Amino acid sequence: MTRTGNEGPRGISAIVIEDPSEGLSFGAFEEKMGWRAQPTAQVQFDDCRVPGQNLIGEEGKGFTYAMAGLDGGRLNIAASALGGAQFALNSSLTYMEERKAFGKALNQFQALQFKLADMEVKLQTARTFLRQAAWKLDAQAEDASKFCAMAKLYVTDTSFEVANEALQLHGGYGYLTDYGIEKIVRDLRVHQILEGTNEIMRLIISRQMLTA
Ligand SMILES: Cc1cc2nc3c(=O)[nH]c(=O)nc-3n(C[C@H](O)[C@H](O)[C@H](O)COP(=O)(O)OP(=O)(O)OC[C@H]3O[C@@H](n4cnc5c(N)ncnc54)[C@H](O)[C@@H]3O)c2cc1C
Repeated sequence: MTRTGNEGPRGISAIVIEDPSEGLSFGAFEEKMGWRAQPTAQVQFDDCRVPGQNLIGEEGKGFTYAMAGLDGGRLNIAASALGGAQFALNSSLTYMEERKAFGKALNQFQALQFKLADMEVKLQTARTFLRQAAWKLDAQAEDASKFCAMAKLYVTDTSFEVANEALQLHGGYGYLTDYGIEKIVRDLRVHQILEGTNEIMRLIISRQMLTA
């Protein structure tokens, strides 16, 4: 995406930049809290000259194309978060059966059973909401972008809460690398930032509510 016109979204165009190209380089892999299975690096453009024929679609439409791609990307991020949280909940069920404290298995304490119920409800509501947003996008519904933003916000926040609760249910072992729960918590944290932060999701949602 590059600015080819005036200020504002209509001055941005999308172009293909082949690798290698003069002026195109990549930064070193970033050191991250989580998401280490996915390499992250800066893409740098330094006096990078590109032939006009590399323009994608129409000049000045780059921002529109990017926004159209983001709806599906947000569902994708939400689905990744949901899968991680479901793994954390499933692991908690197994662990609470095995671990005994004060003479009984963890899953026999009603306080912890209620936590499990809350986690299950949170993930089921998140899944239902995500599917509704995906259906809206497939059906090209007018309010699809709003629903994709709402699903991204709700599912990533909820999934992080559930994964964090799962870490708590594992006690000290949750904090160690052995059970893989701390990794899930670290991995899920970035979903509240990526593909538009969750504050920006709120901005998109409220803007659409106020202009409807
Ligand atoms: C691991 C990783 C991989 C990434 N991969 C990619 C990638 O592949 N491609 C890509 O383009 N980007 C990528 N990013 C960048 C990512 O999309 C941005 O970090 C993210 O969109 C937030 O932008 P920012 O970092 O500039 O935060 P800022 O815009 O500086 O925001 C800082 C804080 O202020 C808040 N804020 C900002 N503006 C407002 C406002 N108007 N109202 C309320 N709150 C506001 C934000 O929500 C945030 O909490 C990646 C980031 C990470 C961490």
